[in-house]
Amino acid sequence: MYAYCRVIGCGRPARAGTSTGLDTRYCRVHADHLSRHGSAYKGSYLAKVINPYRRAALDWLLVHGDLFWVKDAVGKVEGLYHGGGPHIEAFRLPGLKPRERGKAQWARLRHHEVDPRLVVAVWLAVEMVIGDDLQPVSTSQYKRVQAAKVVHRMASGTHKSWEQERPHPAHPGLPPIVHIQKLSWYPKSRGRVLRYIGEDLERAAELLVDHHLEEVREYKRERDSQGKPATRPYPKGIRARGRRMGT
Ligand SMILES: [Zn+2]
Repeated sequence: MYAYCRVIGCGRPARAGTSTGLDTRYCRVHADHLSRHGSAYKGSYLAKVINPYRRAALDWLLVHGDLFWVKDAVGKVEGLYHGGGPHIEAFRLPGLKPRERGKAQWARLRHHEVDPRLVVAVWLAVEMVIGDDLQPVSTSQYKRVQAAKVVHRMASGTHKSWEQERPHPAHPGLPPIVHIQKLSWYPKSRGRVLRYIGEDLERAAELLVDHHLEEVREYKRERDSQGKPATRPYPKGIRARGRRMGT
């Protein structure tokens, strides 16, 4: 008795259970897709699609920073930052469990001083872009993974540089040549870690969504009707991505 992949029209056999953590309801290709995007068949929203939503959400948050539910959500994201534990460099992450890697992402955002309002804006943007999608995937998993992927990109890598001296190749008597060595590490944007990050963010923003999402939508519609599409997800001068070297 064989089980087949649940994606309609796929026809490949479903995966046998293994230790990789991929979903056994799907074939390898679709299980992998689910792991990366939160849906077995629908991909992630492109930056050009989601950025106008991020920008509208952020601008709305900047104008309404005094609202109770805005402060509540921003405070909860700050709580995630501070509850994230010590900053862990990206090359040390592979040994950790997904829940711990999720927490480490919040510590990473704290470390890079990413404005928490940008993070709240991501959740609002994902709510809106899915709401406007004519062929949406309406699962909470997809929503969480879509938000987490954006948040993940806001501070994901660890970069190191150091100087290395090498003897002069032709004239050993001359001073050594100094090379700048650079290395970057990026944690994988896939798997259960994204579900945890998305779940954390959903919990931080859900009451803001309940109370104000419609206003944010209205704000974006208004802006769109004025023909002012924003392509950057945030204005210049807002701290969105750390450039720290070393630890
Ligand atoms: Zn399949």
